[in-house]
Formats: sequence, structure tokens, C-alpha cells
Amino acid sequence: EVRVRFAPSPTGHLHLGGLRTAFYNYLFAKSHGGKFILRIEDTDQSRIVPDAVDKFENDLEWVGIVPDESPSVGGPYGPYKQSERLSLYRNQVKSILEKGEGYYCFCTDRRLDLLRREALRARQVPRYDNRCRHLSEEEVKERLDRGDNYCIRFKLMSDEEAFEDLVYGRISYNVALNEGDPVIIKSDGYPTYHFANVVDDHFMKISHVLRGVEWQISTSKHILLYRAFGWKPPVYAHLPLILNADGSKLSKRQGDIKVENYRKEGIFPQALLNFVVDAGGGFTKDMGRTKSRIYTMQELIQQFDISHVKPSSCRLTPQRLPDFNSLELRQKLADKKELALLVQEVKQLVSRTYKDRLENHNLLLQDDHIMSVLRWSQDRITKLTDLVNSNLAFLWVTPSVHTLEDITSHSSNLGVLEDIRLCLSKLLEAEFRREHLKTLLNAFSTEKQLPFSKLMKLLRSAISGLKEGPGVAEMMEILGQTGTLARLDHAVT
Ligand code: GLU
Repeated sequence: EVRVRFAPSPTGHLHLGGLRTAFYNYLFAKSHGGKFILRIEDTDQSRIVPDAVDKFENDLEWVGIVPDESPSVGGPYGPYKQSERLSLYRNQVKSILEKGEGYYCFCTDRRLDLLRREALRARQVPRYDNRCRHLSEEEVKERLDRGDNYCIRFKLMSDEEAFEDLVYGRISYNVALNEGDPVIIKSDGYPTYHFANVVDDHFMKISHVLRGVEWQISTSKHILLYRAFGWKPPVYAHLPLILNADGSKLSKRQGDIKVENYRKEGIFPQALLNFVVDAGGGFTKDMGRTKSRIYTMQELIQQFDISHVKPSSCRLTPQRLPDFNSLELRQKLADKKELALLVQEVKQLVSRTYKDRLENHNLLLQDDHIMSVLRWSQDRITKLTDLVNSNLAFLWVTPSVHTLEDITSHSSNLGVLEDIRLCLSKLLEAEFRREHLKTLLNAFSTEKQLPFSKLMKLLRSAISGLKEGPGVAEMMEILGQTGTLARLDHAVT
């Protein structure tokens, strides 16, 4: 059975890089009818951020990557947080010690630091010199009895361990030469990442490990641990780096790559996933750079094939995210159920944004009105939050008295506005369409001998408080007759 895991450390938020790893694991699992597991690697107690686990789970659920087993879902191989599996690691380290494949190390931080510095000065790779490998049993016992600080190290038995990477092909790395014996249990009693990761992958019956290429250098070490235990290692596939468009590294500290922020900005989950696979590749069909639609989860699962993931690093094309999002918006608008959901979302967004500034509350927040706003705006916006941007705020709120001062401080303007109000009030609601309104406004300007552009400027300000923006007749149409008249009333009184 195919079983894969996403194993983040709860040190912050899910960001694009993590999302890519999670998603490719998910695609791999689902395209093989397998299971996708979320495991939290929280053995570095100093770096834990409270609530991070819940946030990870929420973010994953929001994009639709729902784990089959996880801390909150549970499952047959739990617990799914490493901090709750400490007794398992303790037992396993015992077996490593008994087999003579591990040893106690009493080297102080000071000594390790000196070793590091000396190596650097001699322009060598800093590595542990394996000194404590050679301590006698008595000496170890004596120091343990004395209560000396210790960690436990893994005795590297082989110099080199090669493996077949599903993406990169054959990889070999000489751990012994480069690093010396690695720590497996730290002095605080917690396992290191390497040790816990291997033990968990084994006991959680993980068949394939898909993770970022930054971990590739650790894989040989992991495989040596499997050998020491006498276990069969999983198959490894490392995913190339994702870079920014300019080739710079996608930093976790860059706030705008947090999944949570995309959500807050109004990016749709499926648009975000399409954006990620657009950069990452790995599909049998060419998903094409000239895409005209959004691929559904089902389509992505069907067409995913790890052998199509290229080892060269991939670049994000940021401009494509808004494109994907408007495609997704259009697809949603064409679907009755999705449209109903969008309407509710807009209602909440608008209420949240404008709170008590909302006048005409009942009118502008009616489902029908929101629906026509959505249809009207699909060429103008790429995400729902654009609907509450300043140049579309007129859709929901009446311009403030202060904004109107410019035009309402001239009595001649007031007269014009009153006349046009009268004219518009005589129309039938069905006549309140932009073409008809344009004709009417033209006739009005001729009749009153008012330059058309001046008239438009005045009306635009009165209705929206804007100096530029959508056409005046268009704004009137979208506000409807009642809405438009209310704006004109407000301007003249
Ligand atoms: N805890 C590691 C991380 O934060 C997991 C690496 C792996 O998948 O083995 O990315």
C-alpha cells in the first residue's frame, strides 16, 4: 500500500514551499489509491510556535488537502505528534545501543565548538571526531552515574550509502566523511529530527518519502539508520527548490507566501493549487502555459506522475496567480451552487469591511444585487476582495458628505442634480440599462446645454465619490434605479 506523509515542524505557518510538498505527497497518494498522513515533527522544543498545529491542519483543509491520518483525525499508527511518541524513541534507541550501533557522548558544547572553529580555520568541513566512540564501558558507566550531560550518537558503519531518487536518479553522499557520527538523542532527552523521522516512517509504514531537496543530504544518513535497525527503507523522491521569478530563494519569512495570507486576500484554494503545480510540473499531459481553465483536484490526481517531475528548480510566475484566480472565479460564477456560496462570502466581506457605514443595507446586500454585481465585475476583478477596494467601494457605501463637498458647494450643481434625479425617477426599473441611460444622459446634456463631460464628472462624483472609474451609465445600472436615486438624494440634501 502506498503511504506517504507530510511532516512539518510546527515552527510557523504553512507557506508555499510546504504547500507544494504537502500537495505532491497528496497527489502521489491519491493517484495510487494510497493514504496521505500528516505528522507533526515537534522535537525541537525551542522552536515550537503555539497553535501552529491547528493552523497547519486548517490551512490544509482549506485548500482541500485533507489527511487520512493526522493529530486531529487520528489513525491506526498514532499518535501523530512526535512529542507524544517519546517512549517509542527511547525503546528504539535502546536497541541501537544494545546492537553496539550507538554510543553515549559526553563532549561538552565547548569542545564541539572548538572542534568546529579549528576545522574552519584549517579550511576543513567541520565534523565531529567521534571521540566518545572509544570510551570504555566503565568510563561510560562512571560518567552516567556521576550525572554528566550526554547525548547519544549513531555509529556510522559505512562510508557511503547510495540510493535511487525517483526525481534525481542515483545519489550518493559520504556522511561519515562530511559529518562524523550524528546525534540521535539530544541532551534534553528528545530525539533528533533524523532519528525520530526514521523511526516514525518505519512504524507508520511509510512507503514513499517525498520531500524538499534540502533534505536530500540527510537521506544517506537515514538509510544507514534503517540498515542498523534491519528495516527496509522507503523509496525517496526529492522535490526541487521552488524559486521566485527572479531566481531568488522563496523565503519562509516573506509574509506574502503564507497560505493564510492568500486566503485572506481572497485567493481561491483551487487557483492556489493550480499556481503551485504550474511551477512544480509533474503531469502526464502538458498542463500548458497558456491555460484557459483551472484543473480540478480530480484531474490533477489523474494526471500526476512523479516521473514527470524534473530535477531542475522551478520558478513561480507571480502574475499567473491572479489569472488563475479569475479563471476560477468565472468557473464558480457559472455554477449555481458555487455562485450561492460566493454571494454569502461577498455579503460577509462587505459587512465586515464597512460595518456601520453600510447604508441602504437591505437593498445592496440582497442576494440578487450581489449576484449582478458579481457578474458585472468579473472582468474587473481577479478576487472577491477587489470588490471592497476603493474604486469599487461605491457599490456598497454612499460617498461621504466630505467627499461630496467639492460638487455640492455650487448651487448650480445642485440644480442639475435635482433635474436629472427627476428625469431618472420617471424611468421604469426595466429601462435602467446602460444603453438607455447613455441616450438619456446625452439628451439631457443637449437640452440643458451642459457639456457632456462636465455632466458626467458631476454625476460620477455624486454617485460614487470617484474622479475616475467605471462609466457613469454603468454605475447607475449596477446600482439600480432605487440605489441611484438614493445617491442623488443624498448628494443634494
Ligand atoms: N520536519 C521536516 C520539515 O520540517 C520534515 C522533513 C522530511 O519530510 O523528512 O520539513
